[in-house]
Amino acid sequence: MQAGPLGVSGWAADVRNSITSGTRNWLFVTIETDAGITGLGEGSGWPRVVETAVNDLAPVLIGQDAFATERLAQRMSVAMMGHGMSGVVGQGAIGAVDMALWDIKGKALGVPVWQLLGGAVRERIRCYTHASTPEQAKAALARGYTAIKTGGVVNPVAKARAIRDAIGPDADLMIDLHGPPWLSLPDAVVICDALAELRPLFVEEPLPPENIEGYRALRRATKAPLAGGERHGGFHGCAPLLLESLVDVIQPDSGRSGGLTGLRKIATLAEARFATVAPHSGSLGPVAEFAAIHLLGAIPNALILERLDPDWPGRGETIHGGHPEMRDGHVTLPTAPGLGVTIDEAFVAASPSLRNAGLPSGGWPAGTEGATLYTQPRTPRTGLT
Ligand SMILES: [Mg+2]
Repeated sequence: MQAGPLGVSGWAADVRNSITSGTRNWLFVTIETDAGITGLGEGSGWPRVVETAVNDLAPVLIGQDAFATERLAQRMSVAMMGHGMSGVVGQGAIGAVDMALWDIKGKALGVPVWQLLGGAVRERIRCYTHASTPEQAKAALARGYTAIKTGGVVNPVAKARAIRDAIGPDADLMIDLHGPPWLSLPDAVVICDALAELRPLFVEEPLPPENIEGYRALRRATKAPLAGGERHGGFHGCAPLLLESLVDVIQPDSGRSGGLTGLRKIATLAEARFATVAPHSGSLGPVAEFAAIHLLGAIPNALILERLDPDWPGRGETIHGGHPEMRDGHVTLPTAPGLGVTIDEAFVAASPSLRNAGLPSGGWPAGTEGATLYTQPRTPRTGLT
C-alpha cells in the first residue's frame, strides 16, 4: 500500500471558559492511500509553520510504503536535515505524518494502534485535569478525577497549597510552573522546595526548556519530583532530560514529538532511566490525545493522561463520536481500528488557523511582564511561596 496525497486542515479558536483562556490552534493532517484508507494525524509545535513543513514533505512520501513507519520517519528526517536540528516544527510535521501512518496501519490490519505498539499493558488509563481554584479542584474530584494539576507563574505555591488543602492528602497534586524565561534557578529552588512539602506527584517545567544546566543544578538542590519535556523537540530534544535523569516524569508533547514512532522511543529511553511518561496532550486537539491514549496503553511506564476537562465546548464538535469515556478518573482504551478518531472536516474548515504566535489576551499577569518582553528579573521577588 502506497502513501498518496496529504491534506492539511488548520484550525483555531479563541477560548474562554472557567478553566482556561487563550487560543486553541491545532493542525490535522490526512494521508490517503491507493488502498482507499485514509489516515489522520495531528501536529502542533507552531501549526501554520508545521503545515508548510508537511506540504514540503509530501513529495518525499507519495508513493512510499505506508506501512514503513520507521523508514519514513528516517526519510522525513533526512529530507529536513539541511534545516539543522528538527526542533518542535520538524517534529510536529514528522509527528503528524507518522500518526496518520499508524492510523492507516491499524485500519488496514483491523486493530487499534495500541495493539501495534506492543499490545495492551493496561485496559484503562488514569487521568488528571486542571484546576485554578479549590472550588474547581473539588468539582473535578466530584467528576471522578483523583489527580489535579494547578500552577501558573504568579504565586504558584500559595495556589497549590490552597488546592492541596481542598483535595486532601489522598488525591494527587501536580504543579506546572510553565518554565517562563524569567524563572531563574534560585527562584526555582525556593519554589520547588516549598512545593515538595505538599507531596506533589511532580513539579512541571521548573525552568525554561533551554536551561539544561539549570535542570542539572536544580536536580541536585531539591527533593521535589520534577517533570518536563513538553517544549522539547521530539526524541533528541527530550533525550538530555532522560539521559542524565534530570526529570522523574517525561512529558513529550504528543503533537510535536515525532508521532507514535518518536513517542515510543522517548518512552523506552525513559524506561531505561526509571522515569515515567505523562504526555503533554490535553491542550492539544483530540487526535493527539487519542495518540497519547494508545501510547499509554502499550508502555510499561505510563504515569497519567492529561485532560482539559472542561475544555472549550467546540472540542467535542471537532470529532465524530465523542471523546473517550471517562469513568472513575480513567479512560478505557479505544477498540476501533487505527487511532479510532475522525474529525468533522466541515467544522474544522469553518475556523481556519489565522496566526502562529501571540501573547495571552489581556497581557501577562502583573509582575511577569514589563518593560522588557522576553527576559526580565521576576519582580517583585516576594510572593514566591
Ligand atoms: Mg505544562
